[in-house]
Amino acid sequence: MPDGTIAYYRGDFCPIEEATVSIRAKGLNYGLGCFEGIRAYWCSDEEQLYVFRCREHYERLRHSCRIIGLPIEPDPDELVEITRELLRRNGHKEDTYIRPLAFNASFQLSPIMTPDDNRIAVYTMPLNDYLDTSQGVTASVSSWRRLSDNTIPARAKPTAAYLNSALARGEAMACGFDEAIMLTSDGYVSEASAEHLFLVMGGRLVTPTSQDDNLDGVTRRTILEIAPADLSVAVEVRRISRTELYVADEAFLCGTGAQVTPLVGVDGRPVGDGKAGPVTRKLQDLYLRIVKNKIAKYAHWCTPTY
Ligand code: PMP
Repeated sequence: MPDGTIAYYRGDFCPIEEATVSIRAKGLNYGLGCFEGIRAYWCSDEEQLYVFRCREHYERLRHSCRIIGLPIEPDPDELVEITRELLRRNGHKEDTYIRPLAFNASFQLSPIMTPDDNRIAVYTMPLNDYLDTSQGVTASVSSWRRLSDNTIPARAKPTAAYLNSALARGEAMACGFDEAIMLTSDGYVSEASAEHLFLVMGGRLVTPTSQDDNLDGVTRRTILEIAPADLSVAVEVRRISRTELYVADEAFLCGTGAQVTPLVGVDGRPVGDGKAGPVTRKLQDLYLRIVKNKIAKYAHWCTPTY
């Protein structure tokens, strides 16, 4: 069976072409919805597909839905089971991306969340690198500010927030960079279009606080836990000024899609010596072993599909 041809939609599994929505749906007109991005890793030695921190992603979806006022029926445990079943039905035997989406499909005209016709969809697709994890990427500081948690909740994953990401990354790419780093409205480093940012300074990891208008990130939380525990690298969570980007020893972006991607240049200046640094490479290696269930103490983060 070709990959990703089955979707979960409105309480059942169906061919993906049948998982459609009207052009009148509020989710499309006003962005009244939220979503998740989850990865599953294929381990050929075990013939197993492991979904990384699946439950945590669905807990975040539940939080996102609560924040935007969109009630959803299945609880996180049920959504984990739905996801496993969907992966099996699609027969994925490669690294796979999973996209759960909750949205309001009501036809009613005004831009308010209505209790009727809230839907959940989940679809899947094969996915290797989202960003270049081997060479690393460059970024520019965006002229678009990160939307604040009091504008469109940045802590959650509302679909509407991704116009902010699209404007920023579009501008960066048009100027020849791979990614955009957005600042908060008061000028501190927030995050990239779909990744968190970490600097390595004097052997320590430094990352913006979760009050700096960035997503409650699953990979960020993972890095904050594994760096001190497994590499004895201290972490510092604090506000970061733009100019610190120019003097960091190393930097990397992280996220479900990006995994751990070296950031090798910012605003046309090399980060460190302009190549992925040793701390970044160690973290990258550790992260990839964890997501492929190669480190026993983190096995509870890896949900088997088959
Ligand atoms: N920031 C934004 C804006 C994102 O969309 C993502 C991707 N979900 C991330 C950061 C990384 O978050 P996570 O590690 O939970 O995927």
